[in-house]
Amino acid sequence: MSFDLLTLFEETETALAKLEEGDESAAEEFAKYIFALRPSYVSGTSYLLYQEDAAARYAQWILSINRELGITLCLEALHQFADKFWPSNMPAITEAQVKQVFQMVNQVFPYTQKVSPEHSVEILLFDAQHETLNGETTAFFEPSGMRGCICMYRMQEENLSPVAVFLHELGHLLHIRGTGAMDQVPPSFVTYLRRLGAQTDALSIPQLQDVFADTFMLAVMSQHPKLEVPIPGLSDQVLRASYQYIQAFFDEIA
Ligand SMILES: [Zn+2]
Repeated sequence: MSFDLLTLFEETETALAKLEEGDESAAEEFAKYIFALRPSYVSGTSYLLYQEDAAARYAQWILSINRELGITLCLEALHQFADKFWPSNMPAITEAQVKQVFQMVNQVFPYTQKVSPEHSVEILLFDAQHETLNGETTAFFEPSGMRGCICMYRMQEENLSPVAVFLHELGHLLHIRGTGAMDQVPPSFVTYLRRLGAQTDALSIPQLQDVFADTFMLAVMSQHPKLEVPIPGLSDQVLRASYQYIQAFFDEIA
């Protein structure tokens, strides 16, 4: 039996109902149950890929990284998360594409060596469409190194390439590793954008992080011309500049 989004929705619904009825142990019981699960995954060279049990692994992540918020808040967040999806036939990334993309990024840059040398990146593939997102990336730092997690959903649009989205998410993991935080932008990136003539003051941190993630995606694509660049009208000069900046950024990372 797989533990999918529907299971997550039902399990959180039940636990929240018990809490409402005054059963205060329900949150603890839920956390115990989730941590006792052994979600199945496939091991890649530098990643672990979760598919049918992605929702179970996601629940373990949320409970681990938000411990200070308390289990009840995590439970509510998981319940809301599981309610944001619907079944869909939109494009989704495949196991084979995940493998290919990792090979590609490691051909072009020392990606695994610099970004996740200690712990395999966890890739969670959800067979459903999220109400607003194509994918998302989180990470946290522990003494043994960074732990990163990329969630991939079915695409919001028919003509959107899951490979491009996945490269974008790997770009997010790169700036998290480079800055050591989820809520920062590398200073060198702001300098780079200004040199290109961008009005960086008008952009929020999350917007800058998205531009960084796209810059990483373009840098990889510039070395793999078979991949279709999803941003129309980009000049070769921008592609070249993206590659040069990301290459220099890898040099910045110890
Ligand atoms: Zn993004």
